[in-house]
Amino acid sequence: MPAPSDSPTRTSSAIVGLECTFADRLPPLSVPWRGADAPEPTLLVVNEELAAALGLDVAALRSADGVAILSGAAAPADATPVATAYAGHQFGGYAPTLGDGRALLLGELIDVDGHRVDLQLKGSGPTPFSRGGDGFAVVAPMLREYLVSEAMYALGVPTTRSLAVVATGRDVHRTGTEPGAVLTRVAAGHLRVGTFEYAARRPELVQPLADYAIARHYPELVDLPEDDNRYLAFLEAVLDCQAALVAKWMLVGFVHGVMNTDNTTISGETIDYGPCAFIDAFDLSAVFSSIDHGGRYAFGNQPAALKWNLARFAETLLTLMAAEPDEAIGAATAVLGTFDDRYNRYLVEGMLAKIGLAGDVGASDLIDDLLALMSDHRADWTGTFRALANDLRGDHASLATLIPSEHSDPWLHRWHTALDVLGRDRGQTADAMDRINPLYIPRNHQLDAALRAATHGDFATFERLLAAVTHPFEYRGEWEDLAAAAPPSFTDAFHTFCGT
Ligand code: AMP
Ligand code: MG
Repeated sequence: MPAPSDSPTRTSSAIVGLECTFADRLPPLSVPWRGADAPEPTLLVVNEELAAALGLDVAALRSADGVAILSGAAAPADATPVATAYAGHQFGGYAPTLGDGRALLLGELIDVDGHRVDLQLKGSGPTPFSRGGDGFAVVAPMLREYLVSEAMYALGVPTTRSLAVVATGRDVHRTGTEPGAVLTRVAAGHLRVGTFEYAARRPELVQPLADYAIARHYPELVDLPEDDNRYLAFLEAVLDCQAALVAKWMLVGFVHGVMNTDNTTISGETIDYGPCAFIDAFDLSAVFSSIDHGGRYAFGNQPAALKWNLARFAETLLTLMAAEPDEAIGAATAVLGTFDDRYNRYLVEGMLAKIGLAGDVGASDLIDDLLALMSDHRADWTGTFRALANDLRGDHASLATLIPSEHSDPWLHRWHTALDVLGRDRGQTADAMDRINPLYIPRNHQLDAALRAATHGDFATFERLLAAVTHPFEYRGEWEDLAAAAPPSFTDAFHTFCGT
């Protein structure tokens, strides 16, 4: 497929110093490409704090030249943007060629802390991987990814981040006509399980790809000799990071919604905020995505979905693990067999911290019984942990609205005893809980309202919600309404959408 004829050859110096080690070292895994023109680019939101952390000049980004790069219409002067290739299992079915159908990897930057990060545009026009799609994205879903990814970052969950959203001035056809937009995404890397699935079709590609991924994301493994199971250690490292990641999702009540293997990163970061949502009431069967009919990626199925994806990842590495297939399968299976213990350890550690009992592994019964209470009473996930801290301070009203006190009292009594046995001060424990249990998350009803207003040009609601969710632990009276759960009638009817 030739470059689209309306694609500009324009370049801009608003972003300089991009490198492209991925494209240079693994040429078969990407195609040099350009973004589509943007009729009327307008900067909707820019992340000044992130720009500074990347060593980028914010004034240059805001200039017409900067916005031209962020819209895809101009390429950074010294860079060769590429569309990357990957495969993937989507809802269990194998798709041999997915790739960046609407994204461009502009290149890599070294941030002020010395870390290499990818700069990627999402929604920048058709590429050779677009298949039937138009290559574009629209304002509301790109603002959604911007806000939710920045909220996840503020919550301490490893994630890709968002640098900017630009409206392109292009009409994009969805169910109706929507304003086109491009998101600039920043990631430790865009390698996915699907990248390895794609490479595995050409066996000579797997080892260079694995070595690149190890050097970039797990440098502590670089010096492991090949015959000392470097690639098995790589599998184990990715498994461990991803187990820790999904445990964090569970701890904040995050439902990714589309955990296909092309959306499982090698870096251990959350990627692709399409149909994601946060739960209100605690409900392991919660599904929001309109296309997840079987509940494959339901809230409580996320660890199992991840484990399945990691098995697909392990399969791509087998030839590097041992000359004998049976030996390789045995070794990989043993690593995959450690998943449940690792995941459970991360989850239990996190849950104990949420109730002020960090390190008290003997208290895991308390967690199970709290979850049962929350489930029975459909208690708001986020609100309950702040209410528990308030309860420790002697303010019993907020918990009583979530779980009637005759049901919570026996549990509270056991919890207080556990705290007393450890000699934990109640006030200090409540404060420690408030430092890790958020008040403000992107609540579905609030995010929906903010995106609807923003699509019509009113950004005040979006800006206010963004400010709150990027300071998730910090009580402010002016944000009181943003801590409130959605009415159940909203949640029961709420659906999210992929690829919009
Ligand atoms: P996602 O659901 O965002 O992970 O995307 C899955 C695949 O569909 C990727 O290969 C995307 O590049 C591709 N895709 C999603 N939306 C579009 C679109 N509007 N045009 C072209 N490709 C798309
Ligand atoms: Mg994706």
